[in-house]
Amino acid sequence: MKTLNIPQTEQKRVVVVGGGFAGLTLVQKLRKSNYQVVLVDQNNFHLFKPLLYQVASAGLDESDIAFPFRRVFQTRRNVNFRLGRMLRVKPEENLLETSTGSVTYDYLVIATGCVPNFFGMDHIEQRSWPMSDIGDALRIRNSVLRNLEKAVIATSEEERNALLNIVIVGGGASGVEIAGALAEMRSYIVPRDYPGVNISSMHIYLVEGRDKLLATMSPETSSDCLKVLEKKGVNVMLNTAVKDYQDNRVIFGDGTSILSGNLIWTSGVKSEAVEGIGNSEKERRGRILTDRYNRVQGFDNIFAIGDIAITDDPQYPAGYPQLARVAISQGERIAANLIAVSKGKPMEPYEYRSIGVLATVGRNRAFAEWGKFRIKGFMAWLAWCFVHILFLLGVQNKIKVFSGWVWNYFGKDLPVRLIIGCGVPCKDAK
Ligand SMILES: Cc1cc2nc3c(=O)[nH]c(=O)nc-3n(C[C@H](O)[C@H](O)[C@H](O)COP(=O)(O)OP(=O)(O)OC[C@H]3O[C@@H](n4cnc5c(N)ncnc54)[C@H](O)[C@@H]3O)c2cc1C
Repeated sequence: MKTLNIPQTEQKRVVVVGGGFAGLTLVQKLRKSNYQVVLVDQNNFHLFKPLLYQVASAGLDESDIAFPFRRVFQTRRNVNFRLGRMLRVKPEENLLETSTGSVTYDYLVIATGCVPNFFGMDHIEQRSWPMSDIGDALRIRNSVLRNLEKAVIATSEEERNALLNIVIVGGGASGVEIAGALAEMRSYIVPRDYPGVNISSMHIYLVEGRDKLLATMSPETSSDCLKVLEKKGVNVMLNTAVKDYQDNRVIFGDGTSILSGNLIWTSGVKSEAVEGIGNSEKERRGRILTDRYNRVQGFDNIFAIGDIAITDDPQYPAGYPQLARVAISQGERIAANLIAVSKGKPMEPYEYRSIGVLATVGRNRAFAEWGKFRIKGFMAWLAWCFVHILFLLGVQNKIKVFSGWVWNYFGKDLPVRLIIGCGVPCKDAK
């Protein structure tokens, strides 16, 4: 197998797989260390996932929330980026094999996040649109807009309904956010851009299996969120399980169905097994079990952080929340530990501290909770904007996104209403 062509130096080598929130934080913290750092990612950019829904709903351009790794590390001579997809680990040889070549390591850190979970429902996996990476977000944008174009020339009511109805599955933050954004697209954009489309025939459904939205937040926030979405005209269906998707019909557990050529899937995630160190069978969502130092069980020099890891912490048997802030703090901890080891000092365990939760519904409303402290409405939205701008990479991106929000706030506009690329797979209604 080819190698990743990393220069041989006297330095110990840390190989990090995945430049998401966890991996990128770790690499940035090691940039002035004595380690040689290699970052391997299947994409050449860091993606700010919390704003994916705004790309999917035509509010932001994809380049606003993606930042090329090579630009981040231009001046960092001890950091090497290589494009490649992790294939397997050979711990006995301290070797990582990727789709573009292999690389040896002294320390390996796996931070590859997670992927959508369709819970074994094949038709849904094949025909729905998940929202997990930039390709997914673009496909949602392209397909929703393309279906609106088709609705203008539809010849039957049934065809038009299938093209206009949007079903979003999953009432967590991602589902709530995309539902709010698409409801605003229906209210502000569709009447202006598509005068031939009657918006009363365009229904947006948000389907959740549990009895409330935003299940990780307080009951008060869940019920406030429900009210806001209903006011925006979203049909929220609680205690409803989606079972299948056939012939443009979203089929529910009780046998009823909704005609829709737009099925957006935000319901659940899992991690992909890592060949060579897999213990995914032990954990229902495929996460890698680690000790409190983020070491993968059974290995001294392989670590897992972020969404892919589940720490053996009796206080959190289901794992820490899969949130950006947790991934970032694990990246910080492991960097500090590796630097400590290089100086002959002991490592410290990762301490999880509960942090606030934020979710937004539409262009000027959000919910925020820090422990028992809770705010909602415009002030929460300002807090949401501040936190997202703070963690977004790149000054130019920060300015572009912030100015886009100001424009959207006053102009009620979604500026990126572009259908790009016939090559993008389109699962639209026939
Ligand atoms: C739509 C959406 C909205 C979200 N909103 C919020 C929010 O508002 N607030 C919040 O705190 N969290 C939010 N999250 C969750 C948050 O994004 C994750 O918790 C966070 O991204 C986890 O960071 P990570 O570094 O573990 O993984 P990721 O950020 O997912 O990064 C994983 C990296 O690994 C790379 N990779 C994956 N597989 C391979 C492979 N085999 N080989 C090489 N590279 C690979 C990927 O390209 C990616 O760069 C959201 C997630 C989604 C999908």
